[in-house]
Formats: sequence, C-alpha cells, structure tokens
Amino acid sequence: MTYDGPDNADQARLLRLLRDDGPRSRVELGDAAGLSRARLVAEVDRLVALGRVETAGPAASRGGRRSSLLRIASAVRFAGITIGPREIDVAVTDGELSVLARRREPVDVRLGPEATIARTLELLGKVRANLGLGRLTGVGVALPAPVAFREGSPVSPPALPGWHGYGVRDALAAELGCPVLVDNDANVMALGEQHAGTGRAFDDFLYVKLGTAIGCGLVLGGALHRGATSGAGGIAHLRQSDDGPTCACGETGCLEAYCSDEALVREALAAVEDGRSPVLAARLAEAGAITVADVGRATVAGDPAAQTLVRDAARRLGRVLVGLVNFVNPGIVIIGGTAVGLGPTMLAEIRSVVYRRSPPLATGNLPIVLSDLDDTAGVVGAARLASDDVFGAS
Ligand SMILES: [Zn+2]
Repeated sequence: MTYDGPDNADQARLLRLLRDDGPRSRVELGDAAGLSRARLVAEVDRLVALGRVETAGPAASRGGRRSSLLRIASAVRFAGITIGPREIDVAVTDGELSVLARRREPVDVRLGPEATIARTLELLGKVRANLGLGRLTGVGVALPAPVAFREGSPVSPPALPGWHGYGVRDALAAELGCPVLVDNDANVMALGEQHAGTGRAFDDFLYVKLGTAIGCGLVLGGALHRGATSGAGGIAHLRQSDDGPTCACGETGCLEAYCSDEALVREALAAVEDGRSPVLAARLAEAGAITVADVGRATVAGDPAAQTLVRDAARRLGRVLVGLVNFVNPGIVIIGGTAVGLGPTMLAEIRSVVYRRSPPLATGNLPIVLSDLDDTAGVVGAARLASDDVFGAS
C-alpha cells in the first residue's frame, strides 16, 4: 500500500492549510502555520521533493523578491464515495477537495456487500478512466449504517441487510492499494459541511441528517466526535413513545419511525385514506404510489394535511434537538438530507420548538439552518475523511 502523507506534524499542518484555504504564498503559509522561516523552507522543500506540494504560479508581490504560490500537488487525488440505500455516488477530487468528476448509479444494497462493492469499484474505475487517473491518494466511504470506525465495517445495519461485520474498508483497500476510511453517512456529511458548507465557520456544530435514515454528526472543537465505540450521534432510535409506529430496527416509537422519509409517506397514505388530502389522493391515483417528493410538493402547494404531518414530524425532531443543544451547546445546528420542499416547513417548526423550550444560555444566539450544500455533502465529506487521515489530522 502506498502512502502520501506527511513526515511530521508541521508538514501535516501545511498540507491541511493548503487543502482548506487553497494556494498560498510561502510567507502566508508560514504565518498561518506559525513556523519560522527556516523551518518553513525546509518543510516546504521536502513536501515539493516528495511530490505532495507544487508551485502554482506567481503570488501578488509584496515588494522585494517575487514569491510563488504553493498548492497541493496535482498528483494528489481523493475519491469520495457514498453507498446506498438506493444509489452509489462516486466522485474524485483534487487535493483541495473540489470535485473533478462524478458518477452515480442506482444500486440495490440488499444484493449484499460483495456485489455492491464490486459495482462501486466498477463505477470508480469509470471515473478514474475519464480523468486518466492512475493512483488515488486516499478513499473515503459513507455507509447508511452504524460503522465500527476502527474496523471499517457496518454494525447491525437495518438498511444494509447481510452487511453486518463485513470489512468494507479492507475489501476496498485490497483492490485500490491506498488508505480507505469508512464512516456512517451523518458523520461524513458533517465533514462535508465542515469543509465546504456553513459549518466551515464553526468549531462546534451539529449536523442533523434526515431522509431515509436519521443521524447526527457532532463536530466539537473543530474535529468530528465519534465517541468511545464510534456510536456518537446515533439519535435515530431514541424512543419517543412506548406505543408508536414500528421502526426499521424492530422497536416501536423511535425518532426515525416518526421522522424518516418512509414515516412521512406512511402518514401521507393515512391522510389519503382518511380523506384529509385531496392533493395526495390525486397523486396516488395518478402514480399508483406516493413518494416523499410528493409530500414535499404537496407541502409547498399548501395542502393542509401534508403541512400538518410534516410539522408533526419536525416537532418530534425539535424536542430531541432541545436536549442535544442544551447538552452540547453547539455554535450552529445544520439540517440536511430533507426532500425538496420539506426543508422550510420542517425548519420553521424545529426552530419554534427549540427556541421556545431552551434556556437562553444554550440557544441565545444559536442559528438553526438548512444545509447550503446541494447533494455534495456526502462525496466531499468522504474525500475529507480520507484527506484527514492521509494529511494526519485524525
Ligand atoms: Zn428504531
């Protein structure tokens, strides 16, 4: 296995500065890293010699000797991959984690890990071929599952039947010959927010991932917090009531059983059955099924039943968030993964619950916002996961 990482902590800091802030002059880089001139020259020369950093053209002159910009070498390439539950999404990025090429394909993860990993490698092969790319520096993978981070394998994943304990990291690393990191999708998307989204400006934030499954990524003190057994942020199965709807985990009354996309569709079908939503009834008659996107469209169109069921789900989530923000005291809460049309209604209800029910110390200046990344949080976050490892930040 090849390794393109730094030799020491100073080099790691320089690589992360160039990754996060883009090309810099030597002087700017030295100031930002807090390194002496002699140390900076030695470490930069070493990084250039190793092919990890290169010159990117002249910097704006500050007078005196002209200096040149430094950037992460063009040989540094990361892959960010998100798997399932219904799609594989593969992107290759440069050293600053800008997406260079990307492909998506539908997948049925119930075919099992071997078949899904084979499809993933095939798709990654196509992206690399398009770019004429030989080696990868590192690969990050997001799974819709609890992940034992040190082992790189999913743990009892309801959304991935047959995947329990499968060594996703080792299977990919054996094929790709580079470092591979695997984490759950909420953590990975939080890293995407930290790199390219609203989270960039905050050292402490919560990223709440909605959608098919619900999760929460915690960035504390500028680093993703995984906890003792990488189970931190697992809010999906916090029990909201003893006699609630059945959850994918087999229990009843879990948060996810009230707030997931499937739960919203279930409530929408109930509204149709009770004659409460002519809009959704018409959609069901036309398409033969209702999707969460239909619920989003009905909400935007002002359908009272759709709006009520979305607000009810958001209220439950808001109550859980009251506990989380008081306990963690984040600088911001970012909500992502909502289907088109649902975000504003959910956000309004969540804000209303959190601000009404929290003491001012925790929420006095707390922004609660929708993610401003479109659908790139996953692949950029996965590339960031790989780069944090290769650039020594883990
Ligand atoms: Zn559950």
